[in-house]
Amino acid sequence: MPQVIERARQGRYGVRVSIAHGLSNEDLPSSPHARQLRGGFPWLTFESALEAEFRLQNFDDNLSHTRVNLCLAVLIIIAFSAMDAMVLGPQLDRIPSKVYILVIIPMLLIGLASSFSAQRHKIHAPLTIVTMTVFGLSVASIQIIASTGGISILIAPLMLSIVFIYFMSGLIFYHAVAANVVVMLLYLAAGTALILPGREFSYSALSIVAANLFCASVTYMHEKTSRLRFLEACLLREMVARDGLTGIQNRRMFDQHISRVWQQAVREEERVAVLLADVDCFKDYNDRYGHQAGDECLRAVAVSLSQCARRPLDFVARYGGEEFAVVLYEANREYIAEVLTRIQRSIAELNIPHEASKVASRLTLSIGAAFVLPAANRTLEGLIQLADEALYCAKEEGRNRVIVLEAEYHTMRTGRFEKRRHPVGA
Ligand code: GH3
Ligand code: MG
Ligand code: MG
Repeated sequence: MPQVIERARQGRYGVRVSIAHGLSNEDLPSSPHARQLRGGFPWLTFESALEAEFRLQNFDDNLSHTRVNLCLAVLIIIAFSAMDAMVLGPQLDRIPSKVYILVIIPMLLIGLASSFSAQRHKIHAPLTIVTMTVFGLSVASIQIIASTGGISILIAPLMLSIVFIYFMSGLIFYHAVAANVVVMLLYLAAGTALILPGREFSYSALSIVAANLFCASVTYMHEKTSRLRFLEACLLREMVARDGLTGIQNRRMFDQHISRVWQQAVREEERVAVLLADVDCFKDYNDRYGHQAGDECLRAVAVSLSQCARRPLDFVARYGGEEFAVVLYEANREYIAEVLTRIQRSIAELNIPHEASKVASRLTLSIGAAFVLPAANRTLEGLIQLADEALYCAKEEGRNRVIVLEAEYHTMRTGRFEKRRHPVGA
């Protein structure tokens, strides 16, 4: 896969995409990811479905790191707790020790435990916001208690808590900012209300505001890059899955989809149908109207086919060349007939002139459909071979028609195309 997307650059309205190797914005698929990439996201939010997808992915990506960070935080808090006991002395240390041991460490451990729960995607983020806010407030109050007890303000632990909340807690930008701003405002309010020593307090207040600004700025850039990478990865996955000419799913996706569907059908004892549609006399079409017109034609056929099979598990792909494949899950005879009728009608409605065709004056398709209930003695390859067989029959019988086979294909003589080239007995 060539490198498709060149690093997106910062544009006036957010992220501007520049595409390398001759591709332009117009070549991007018309998916929500591509739309979001084109529109930019200066406010670090995606449209709602995409936002949920990103948060889920981001959470999973950072999960192991976040767990390690929470363990680190517990260890460091124990170390600070011991340090406070020495620095503050037993009189002043009583409240901080209680806060550390009864509030912060249990909350961090609950956060850690929640990251293993099945509901973690729902509960971990709100729990972490609350934990981090309480954590920051606790550290801030210890500094205030120390300074009211005559110990000069120690802002280093508060600085560390700011760094931890922004970079190590796993919170997204807005949540980290919210937790830190609450801590900062309450610290400033408490410091002012308690009339802490003027010069020292002003110095620490300014340091805390500056630390928040620096950390927020870095977190913003970091999250913007993560979001960009997320969109690029989604887009690359989409582009790898799509056929370059028609924009529908490609052969690779067909192979993946059909084997998944087949396994599901075996488990659920449901019927699967595969339809192989081949444009009739397409070589003649190219010869008569040119390759470009042939391409347009394939695009139009692809769009029509996609609109004919629209149930959630229905699947349409370009099988190769001028052949398309449709997979219908939980298919019964009526539904297959309905889809086949719709396909024939929509191709007729395209009304593409084909004067060089041997079978009609308009573009036509031959379709071979196979329809089976998976069983132990049946294979996916057999199903596809049966559809191939049906398509071959449709061509043999004069083209521009549909043949449906639902025979016990495991007894069928497979490989008729092969056999034609290598006569039986050869
Ligand atoms: P039949 O009715 O038996 O299917 O005849 P046919 O001419 O359609 O089949 P044949 O296999 O002889 O030729 C297929 C043609 O499809 C030849 C090839 O140039 C053309 N083709 C395959 N892929 C593309 C494509 O991406 N664009 C264009 N324009 N033509 C293509
Ligand atoms: Mg063909
Ligand atoms: Mg053909």
